[in-house]
Amino acid sequence: MLNIPSRNESIKKFKANGGGIVAVTPYHYPKALFRAFNILPVELWGPPKINTLQSKAHIQTYICSVAHSILAFYLQGNLDLCDFILIPHTCDSLQGLGSIFLDFIKPKQKVLTFYMPRERRSVDISFLSKEIEKLYNQLCEFTGKKPDYEELLRHIEIEENATRMLKKLLSERQYLDIEDYKFYSIIRTKEFLPAEEFIEFANNVYLMYKTDKPINKTPIILSGLLPEPMEIFKIINEKNGFVAGDDLAITGRRLYPPPEGSNPFIRLAKSLIFSPPEPSRGDNVEARLQNLLEMAERTNSKGVIFYIVTFCEQEYFYLPQLRKGLREEGIKSILIDTDINQELSQQAITRLEVFLETLQ
Ligand code: SF4
Repeated sequence: MLNIPSRNESIKKFKANGGGIVAVTPYHYPKALFRAFNILPVELWGPPKINTLQSKAHIQTYICSVAHSILAFYLQGNLDLCDFILIPHTCDSLQGLGSIFLDFIKPKQKVLTFYMPRERRSVDISFLSKEIEKLYNQLCEFTGKKPDYEELLRHIEIEENATRMLKKLLSERQYLDIEDYKFYSIIRTKEFLPAEEFIEFANNVYLMYKTDKPINKTPIILSGLLPEPMEIFKIINEKNGFVAGDDLAITGRRLYPPPEGSNPFIRLAKSLIFSPPEPSRGDNVEARLQNLLEMAERTNSKGVIFYIVTFCEQEYFYLPQLRKGLREEGIKSILIDTDINQELSQQAITRLEVFLETLQ
């Protein structure tokens, strides 16, 4: 019987051992840096299915449900155990949320922000390494600790191994005989487990479910920020499909390459900056299209589900050209708009079911 670790257990255990907690909003950030200060990053992708009435006093109703949930979750007192809040500048909504926290709410936790450049030039690596070093100096000041290069590099390597493990599970997904809902519940523990624990847990899962033959279901690609509501997996599996290709910010878009180097700040910067092409980095349409086409070829997928959080403009901007490019290469696609705090509508379920039937 597989016991999937919970977020609350992970937080309590880490705190009980004298560690600190940083709540992190989506989605790129230097995870290893925090672990070198004995701070565990716990990611906040909402959470889904909460009452967001309180957030409406601070942000407009046309801002996405992810931003509303994060703020409502804080206002309901659910981040009291956290010592820091990190808000990367992923999009305009999160930049606005960062300002609300810093200038209006002023929580007891230290609020940190983080800016990822949009390009991949050497000047961007240099900028990002300085941004990471700035975070390092802030953490030194707040904690009174000063981890040396050796300690930083040790944690960088552990995080790189955790990313390798996630990559192995995703790339061999066709050989893992497990339902998508369970598979994603497992790999999403990377959002809150210490990397060492995630590696051990994920490896056990791999050994438990690995098969010699590819599973006999219709492969599809899932694209978007996050797979919420997670009921989508049940619909896909009921129609004899499975998610073979992952273009989700929460998982597949964060398969960072492990670059060499002895300067931890530059190494972290290079790793983050060479993430797969995706909207928050402002990558061009062609790079994203090629990435999806390669994924479709590798996984033998004939369809892409764009599972997009309503009002997430940076995801929507790409869709007309991406879908046209996919169609020209014989790959079907469908757009499903979501609100992470609501169930999937019956209309969306029916459209998904019909789409999946056309792929068989
Ligand atoms: S769903 Fe889109 S707009 Fe909302 S926080 Fe995430 S990236 Fe930003």
